Amino acid sequence: MSFECDAAIPVELPDIDTQPIRSGAKILIVDDTPANLVAIEAALEPLQRQLVTACSGQDALGHLLEQEFALVILDVQMPEMDGYETARWIRSRARTQHLPIIFMTAHDHDDAAVLRAYELAAVDFLFKPIVPEVLRAKASVFVTLHERTEALAIERIEREFENRFRDLETDALRRERDRELAAKHELAHLNRVLGEHDRRKDEFIAILAHELRNPLSPIRTSIELLRSDAGLPPSTTRLVDVLERQTNQLVRLVDDLLDVSRIKADKIELRPEIVDLRDVVDAALMTARPLLDERRHTVAVTAPERVVVAVDTVRLAQVICNLLNNAARYTPPGGHVHVTIGNCDEEVAFVQVKDDGIGIPPELQATIFQMFVQERVRSDGSGGLGLGLALARRLVELHHGTIRCHSEGRDRGSTFEIQLPRITSSLALSPRPRTRDMEPMRPDASDARSIRTVVIDDNDDARELLSEVLRGKGYSVMTASDGQSGLGLIREQQPHVAIVDIGLPVLDGFAVVEALQKQCPQLKTRLIALTGHGQSTDHDRIKVAGFHAHLVKPASAATILACLSQQLQEP
Ligand code: ADP
Repeated sequence: MSFECDAAIPVELPDIDTQPIRSGAKILIVDDTPANLVAIEAALEPLQRQLVTACSGQDALGHLLEQEFALVILDVQMPEMDGYETARWIRSRARTQHLPIIFMTAHDHDDAAVLRAYELAAVDFLFKPIVPEVLRAKASVFVTLHERTEALAIERIEREFENRFRDLETDALRRERDRELAAKHELAHLNRVLGEHDRRKDEFIAILAHELRNPLSPIRTSIELLRSDAGLPPSTTRLVDVLERQTNQLVRLVDDLLDVSRIKADKIELRPEIVDLRDVVDAALMTARPLLDERRHTVAVTAPERVVVAVDTVRLAQVICNLLNNAARYTPPGGHVHVTIGNCDEEVAFVQVKDDGIGIPPELQATIFQMFVQERVRSDGSGGLGLGLALARRLVELHHGTIRCHSEGRDRGSTFEIQLPRITSSLALSPRPRTRDMEPMRPDASDARSIRTVVIDDNDDARELLSEVLRGKGYSVMTASDGQSGLGLIREQQPHVAIVDIGLPVLDGFAVVEALQKQCPQLKTRLIALTGHGQSTDHDRIKVAGFHAHLVKPASAATILACLSQQLQEP
């Protein structure tokens, strides 16, 4: 049996006799007559055992002290120390206490001698002249018995050894298992701690993104107001351009952050509709066009056939726009961007965005779709957070599609390809149209001045700017900076439209609407929620609460005006 023991685990050796068993059954023949010794030796020769002879009791004792025997054949009549005395000595020693003794005596029928011999625990008795066959037969029985006992003892010890080692082995394994279990517990604990940190980080990102959206809203509106002022000197127009570009960049970053936290919390809700992929690409191109033009890229679109898919147009346009923006940013000015749309087969459609820009090194290609992975190749501050492609992949996966990139390496251009299930595929999403608040702007009501609006927002800048936008379009505007006075204003004025911020102190937007439903059930005012909370659950809550429309900050002036004009057309 082999047993390897871990050095770190102390091994206790079993507490058993590890002395080897002396074997090679020897027979001690004791007789004072040399001729007898020779005769007995000859008789026992065929047993093929080691024979030791002694010619006196003392001589025998010497051998018995030094060696171990299986049997003693002992002459009774010997001078000085006779057979009985020798036998007594043998029985008195622990080591030889049970040693079989065959007495030999010349006196036939000497019952007293036989009795004495048996008192000394002799196991057998022989009378001279010895018959060799009888002697051999008797000796053979004792020797075989001795050998079997010895073999059994060895076996028992071996078994004991095995058992003890098995115990030790089990012990070692148990300790090892305990250690493994403890390590697993520790790992699980660390995982929980890490998970908690990760959750808190996601929460922080979500809150941060929400909070960043709030100041962005009035900034954006201010820029739009400035831009609508026809009398601006050219130098100020240039400043407005810079402001607008940088604000749009900020909005993009904040939107990415917000989307990441939504994706991590599984809060992205798609609203698929049946569209031609070309229309989605056109929408994306419209958004990416300013950057593509700014960097003087030539853009070509190849769409040889109609490609019908069921996708969330806004989300897919966001993905394609991201690829186009990347192509624009990572291609030196004056480059070429080629978009191809087509069907791979009966089941799968594709959109490909190819550029001849800086390319992507092979080692980056493997991780490029992971969050926060980016190559710091731009130093002009126009880069992103390394979230765009991670978001793109997740959004494409939500559409049951795939996204891949390919580049021959540095300065060899890049190709990104999205594959999506065609409308005929079993993997295609079921259509679920978008709400109408996404519809394009309709013309303003002709008698805007007669239209009364109320704006409730606790952010002074946001409230004033929004009022200015509305006044600029001819609407009459009343404002309130908290829920309580806003509620009173709506109750008294019964405006055509009220734009209500949700996150108001004390009485929030939900409470305002709830109170209005109770206090003025006949109220005709169209209620628009304007909020930084863009999650779908909030969207649902807002609808259920009784709002007619929901706008997410920072909504552009155009979006707010479109929404307002649409609400005015509702019955
Ligand atoms: P970022 O906000 O950094 O652009 P993305 O997730 O959109 O984040 O892209 C991740 C990285 O992939 C980029 O930082 C850039 O290194 C690389 N990359 C993406 N698109 C291209 C492209 N068309 N050409 C070259 N590199 C690209």
